[in-house]
Amino acid sequence: MRISYYIYYGLVTIVETLMRMFPFPAKTGYQRIGNPDENSPVLLTCNFHLTILRLKKATRGLNYHLLVANSKGINVWCAATGDSLNNHSVVSVIKTSGIEDKVNHKNIILPQLAAPGIESKVIQKRVGWKILWGPVDAKDILDYFEANFEKSAEMKQVEFRFVQRIEMAIMWIFLAAIVLMPIWGPLFKLEAAFLLAQICLIYFLALISFPLFERIFLKEVEKKKAFLTLGNLVVFLINLVYASIGVVLYVVIYQKDYSWMLLRWCIVSFLLVLLVNMELKGSSSTYKSDSHADKLFDVEIDLEKCRGTGICVDVCPRNCYVLDTEKKKITMPRKKYCVQCSACIVQCPFDALYFMNRKGDIIKPETVRKFKLNLMGKRN
Ligand code: SF4
Ligand code: SF4
Repeated sequence: MRISYYIYYGLVTIVETLMRMFPFPAKTGYQRIGNPDENSPVLLTCNFHLTILRLKKATRGLNYHLLVANSKGINVWCAATGDSLNNHSVVSVIKTSGIEDKVNHKNIILPQLAAPGIESKVIQKRVGWKILWGPVDAKDILDYFEANFEKSAEMKQVEFRFVQRIEMAIMWIFLAAIVLMPIWGPLFKLEAAFLLAQICLIYFLALISFPLFERIFLKEVEKKKAFLTLGNLVVFLINLVYASIGVVLYVVIYQKDYSWMLLRWCIVSFLLVLLVNMELKGSSSTYKSDSHADKLFDVEIDLEKCRGTGICVDVCPRNCYVLDTEKKKITMPRKKYCVQCSACIVQCPFDALYFMNRKGDIIKPETVRKFKLNLMGKRN
């Protein structure tokens, strides 16, 4: 039983990681986890199949009620920022799951990364349930329960960890392979496999060495620069070195000299570098793609309106805020780490936060809520 579970878990993880670009919808509705009673906590998650599987694995031994809301088979953060996991998804699963007859409280724990898409005020008003924002990672839920539903600073933060970088590399490699191989196959014949190996090398090395670039990116984020930056140039040159390793290996293995074949190989390698670089920041969970014009907007605070509720501190995945509990005011000492996810703006009950660009253009909270203006949401 145990072995078959791990085999199943491993296979699902591999397949759904390879095809991460595509939705994997699971059944929505109510699930009993362990042996819950009417006092047990209620958790809500999205209906991305791998998320549910990981959540259940991470919470083995716990007793709780699980609500799976419709996110169109997309993971929590992408769905919440892109309006696939929204107020309607939460209200409808609460109303249709029968959860109100199973528990004697009205508290529901949502993943913190759902905060850009779900308004706690609206949920409270429409169904009377109070949202508690749980940890970012399912692996922290056990500790979160033990800490009496208090989150540590680490539980709130999104990082672009090694395992996630590997997952992104695998996803991009698979996607590139299925798109490019039908073209490369007839064009390069046997050498197509070598070319595929080269793109694997570039993607892997580029994403694994992300921390090398991160410091430069961070400085540029502070200066609000767009596409043509020193950081992007450095990344480009480093990736060019990776591609050159591929070209050298090609020469060594195939023993080609300076022929047309080698020139063609260099051109394709160069195009691969361009391809990888184009979306390297956008592949991370901590930077926006350079193609997003709204990355030039900052979160600003209207201190007149702030009443020190600390909700922004609770939902910020980059730990940007500090609350002055005496003055009951918020400050943003780690502003440069902001990824413009909009969670704080959406959740602030007094509309004290908003987006503003260098020219002084303001995006009001109601516009952010309505159009999901954020890290990767829809832009109307
Ligand atoms: S959520 Fe709004 S009111 Fe509360 S501390 Fe943050 S900015 Fe101030
Ligand atoms: S400060 Fe930035 S990262 Fe933090 S919640 Fe607000 S928009 Fe998201």
